[in-house]
Amino acid sequence: MLTALMNTKIFSLIRKTYTFEELDRLRSTHSFYCPACKQQMELKLGKIKRYHFAHRKKTACESYSEPETERHLAGKEDLYQWLEKEGEVQLEPFLPEIRQRPDLLFTMNGKRYAIEYQCSVIPREHVASRIRGYEKLNIQSIWILGSNHLKRLGPSEYRIPSFSWLFARHFPRSFTPYLLYYCPENKQLLRLNHLYPFSGQIFFAHAVSFRQGDSLKHILQNPPDEILPDRWLKSRLNRFRKRLPPKEMTAFQQMLYVKKRVPLALLPSIVFIPSCFDYCFETEPYLWKTSLLLWAEECISFTVQDAAEYLFQLERDGIAVRRQLSFANPSNQDVVEDLGSWLLKAGFLVFMENEKRYRIAPVIWTDRIERILDSDTEFFRLISGCRHNL
Ligand SMILES: [Zn+2]
Repeated sequence: MLTALMNTKIFSLIRKTYTFEELDRLRSTHSFYCPACKQQMELKLGKIKRYHFAHRKKTACESYSEPETERHLAGKEDLYQWLEKEGEVQLEPFLPEIRQRPDLLFTMNGKRYAIEYQCSVIPREHVASRIRGYEKLNIQSIWILGSNHLKRLGPSEYRIPSFSWLFARHFPRSFTPYLLYYCPENKQLLRLNHLYPFSGQIFFAHAVSFRQGDSLKHILQNPPDEILPDRWLKSRLNRFRKRLPPKEMTAFQQMLYVKKRVPLALLPSIVFIPSCFDYCFETEPYLWKTSLLLWAEECISFTVQDAAEYLFQLERDGIAVRRQLSFANPSNQDVVEDLGSWLLKAGFLVFMENEKRYRIAPVIWTDRIERILDSDTEFFRLISGCRHNL
């Protein structure tokens, strides 16, 4: 930690720049204590990590997890300096009502934000209870991940493990999710937007970087412009069509073969239609979208509610598995409404005005690769046409 109690007052290591000699003298004449558990703390003046405090005894302090890495200490200090320019910020304040200590507590326009710079992986339950604690005090928690959590695989392709998803937030009045990362080495805050899954953990994403001086208010409140994920779509579909069939047929492939007589690689393009809530399932979107399509084809017509209920059934049957999210968590109704709006725009769904119900337009199921590739081309054309309606 960068703060400790000294003579019953908070002593901060970053209020000014101290020399080794100054601090060495201080630690020989004073004792330091944890503001939360009141146990004695040691002032560490090593060469690898920046100067910091650590609990003397390795007993767990309920308000803080240790040891802190140099990355964590550095990032916390940088973020403190960043926020100082924009509002009132406190470093590691102890909140006695909930016995929690955020890395930073920031007040902007009368609203309080707990800023957690999360570099380590901690149990999900700890994350959930810390978020609940802040909510009790009406504090919004903003979790900024250490850049160690992010692995870039290509120009717009990232591996995002399930732990990181616990911290995805969405912008006010929109469900567009984003993730924040801070890298102390190049002093950049990265915001990942437009997250579309290639698979359970690999995502297409659009990254925007910010530096000290850029307004945090802007970063947290202004969503990026909507994009049409056609680059994602082409790449997703091409990879899928070229994929070698696995040796053993899964239950899904068997069901598909029994019902439609088509191999997996020739699924109709419509099941790859993107929707902005694809991220909220760990299951690959084409799997639950195919099940929804098969259901919709059997219905003469249906309502949004019917489709949302069927999606619940897919969840109960383990065909669609929800991702664990803390903040950006849309309902099934939101999911099918968004999916439906894309299908409508592209002409795959028909709205029956007089009955206020929907029906699905005829879909091509074929085991001929040429026909499927033609229908893919037509599909891209229809999706590109949606650009005008964004
Ligand atoms: Zn403590």
